[in-house]
Amino acid sequence: MKGKIIKGIAGFYYVYAKGSTYECKAKGKFRNQKVKPLVGDDVEITVLDEKECLGNIDQILPRHSELIRPAVANVDQTMVFAAASPDPNFNLLDRFLIMMARQKVSTIICFNKMDLVDEAVIEEYKGIYKDSGCRILSASTYEEHGMDKIREVLAGKTTALAGPSGVGKSSIMNLLNPDANMDTGAISQKIQRGRHTTRHSEILPIGENTYLMDTPGFSSIYFYDLEPEELKTYYKEFTEYEPYCRFGGCNHVGERECGVKQAVNDGEIARSRYDNYCLFFEELKDKRKY
Ligand code: GDP
Ligand code: ZN
Repeated sequence: MKGKIIKGIAGFYYVYAKGSTYECKAKGKFRNQKVKPLVGDDVEITVLDEKECLGNIDQILPRHSELIRPAVANVDQTMVFAAASPDPNFNLLDRFLIMMARQKVSTIICFNKMDLVDEAVIEEYKGIYKDSGCRILSASTYEEHGMDKIREVLAGKTTALAGPSGVGKSSIMNLLNPDANMDTGAISQKIQRGRHTTRHSEILPIGENTYLMDTPGFSSIYFYDLEPEELKTYYKEFTEYEPYCRFGGCNHVGERECGVKQAVNDGEIARSRYDNYCLFFEELKDKRKY
């Protein structure tokens, strides 16, 4: 039977198949091939005990994508949450966007807690990212505002939900969870079991072919193996202005006659995006020194 790994705890994998969740061990041939099952993997299982919902994973089906951070398979897109109040952590958000762009995963930015700020503030935030290549949404999980749009972008896809802690990720998971008000039953009981262990990624089936993947909240993001000169390639909004740079290979930091810097001064590129870019560039240059 075909299913999807929705959670992994201490050698057990929880596989969602035909509306039930099976507790499985990895027994298949792939164990010798050094392939470790990931949350998000589509797998072939053998049911050992239908009543107890126990099974074995026989095979991992081919992955169409694999994220290293967080370690999950078959993600179609990520949705990163940022709290509109207190001020969003733009530095962290920009780092996240670079990390996703490097892994070639498209990202939706969702500013949550819009009930705490004026509409104008939300518009300002949206303006900062308007040319970043990301789709931008706003929501209030409190007032259940913006949920239609969120459901629309999630439909039919597997989405990894990300963001620092405290931005409302659990709240949105609860709102979208069809079983949220169900605290008994085989599925939730099995899932509850690992509650107090380290947090892992976990998938929630929220509709037909639609999965939401909860990933551990992060408070910092480091860049690995990234050359400072490569950084600019992850800023979509720079592309249009790069032909106006005087020097080929311009990094848009200290160079004279830089089209990107000019665009920042003209208000075409958001200052906060550019300032963070310069910070990251220096950080990567410093790292190279050692
Ligand atoms: P997580 O750490 O990202 O999973 O965030 P939670 O969902 O646990 O929310 C963190 C805190 O923010 C909780 O106290 C929530 O009640 C609150 N919160 C979540 N969404 C909203 C919202 O839309 N508006 C407001 N005002 N508070 C919210
Ligand atoms: Zn330049």
